[in-house]
Amino acid sequence: MTEPSQPVPILVIDDERDIRDACERLLNRMECKVTKAPDGQTGLALLDQERPWVVLLDLKMPGIGGMEVLPAIRSRYPEVLVIIITGYATVETAIEAMKRGAYDFIPKPFKPDELRITVGRAIERIRLEREARRLEAERRRTLADLNQEKSRTRTIIKALPFGVMVTSGDGRVALMNPALREMLGLEPDAQPGRPVDEYVENQAFRDLVERIGSGREKVGDPENWSLEFSPGRERYLWSRGSRVLGEDGSCLGAVMVLADLTEYKMLDRLKNEFVAKVSHELRSPLSTILLQLTVLAGDSTPMGAPGQQKMLHRARERTQSLIDFVKELLDISRIESGTAFNEAQEVNPGEVLSQAVESVLPQAEDKKQKLSLTLPEAALPSLRVDPVALSSVFTNLISNAVKYSDPETEIKVSARTESNSLLVSVADQGFGIEPDKLDKIWDKFFRINTEKTRYVTGTGLGLPIVKSIVDNLGGRVEVTSTPGQGSTFTVYLPLG
Ligand code: ADP
Repeated sequence: MTEPSQPVPILVIDDERDIRDACERLLNRMECKVTKAPDGQTGLALLDQERPWVVLLDLKMPGIGGMEVLPAIRSRYPEVLVIIITGYATVETAIEAMKRGAYDFIPKPFKPDELRITVGRAIERIRLEREARRLEAERRRTLADLNQEKSRTRTIIKALPFGVMVTSGDGRVALMNPALREMLGLEPDAQPGRPVDEYVENQAFRDLVERIGSGREKVGDPENWSLEFSPGRERYLWSRGSRVLGEDGSCLGAVMVLADLTEYKMLDRLKNEFVAKVSHELRSPLSTILLQLTVLAGDSTPMGAPGQQKMLHRARERTQSLIDFVKELLDISRIESGTAFNEAQEVNPGEVLSQAVESVLPQAEDKKQKLSLTLPEAALPSLRVDPVALSSVFTNLISNAVKYSDPETEIKVSARTESNSLLVSVADQGFGIEPDKLDKIWDKFFRINTEKTRYVTGTGLGLPIVKSIVDNLGGRVEVTSTPGQGSTFTVYLPLG
């Protein structure tokens, strides 16, 4: 038992001193703490003070007798066990005492063992009762704790600024918080319990929840577990999901966390509009300056000293690169705002690729590089795209290969189809890219600054443009590179 074994308090109420002392002696050996009272009155007074577990009560005493003391004890301390000891033991008195709530009955004179056994049984019973009460209290406390813990978690989820949606394995919504209702434009009192489809229209989001919640999503592929989508009404959300696992590791459902990107998207749009406006404003005066510089440089009666011709030439070059820069800025802001693309049309990718190679050929020839294109024997399947955007992807990659390679190297461009994708690769034997830069080259304005690249002109916008267009077409672009040996850029575009 967990009850610490302290001496058990026992009260003996008997007018016979010998009996009181005998009880005390015997019970002290049972690790009891005995208090003695010579009559009923004193006994009742000691009851409040000593709070005994067991009372040994004589029936026949001067003053108030045991039969009157017994109900008084029972009514004040019902949990106290009263054992009657009496020399006038008859069946009737025993029955009467039991009726009035006595626990047991010992006739006088009694043997020490009789007393020990009866009192021992009473103590054991009280101990068991106490232990049961303690366990019950503990169980109640644990339940209360759990309940409190649950409601605390609920409060936290409710207060989160992120949307939270928990679904069960069969695709029903088990929990959602107010932020989620707001993000999805649901009624504030919309209740969980129905299939996800009834809360979200976006198919990509429904598919993601289904893939995660059914446990079909591959483990260790978290890239695919997030999604940017719009539930409509000029709202943009980002969502990330995880599986909810049971104790045995089985998948019970999905928990989706949603963040609102609308404000960032709006800011991004404003920034794009600003860049587009500035680039647009810069473009025409720059074009005019370039035209005038060209006229001046080509004039048959050049002004001033020969040195000034060189300056004019340089000014013309710099103006041209400024115009290129402004054009790329304009391109990227249009691509990002989604206004860059003309109507998609059926395009022969082999043709677009040949034209791109053609357009870069003069730069390659200047550097005595061998630029080759390999197309499969059979015509490549056509793509539904904006031809200008597609051409921009290929031209950027091929002209980079030319720019970032030494003279007299080889650049191989090739195309083929592979499992419902069109694959175009541009492989060079150029400077290569350090592994820690491979991620960064897709960032706007990022340029690698080394001895070799220092004199190559560029804006750091070519690859971001490539990536935005390819993303827009639902494809992807990858690079492998070995510094000092060369790089291969591969574009994957979905077919049909
Ligand atoms: P830009 O060429 O105008 O600098 P890009 O966005 O096209 O901008 O490329 C970013 C950077 O990536 C380049 O500055 C260059 O350092 C590196 N890079 C791109 N293509 C290659 C390549 N084929 N070989 C080596 N480095 C490259």
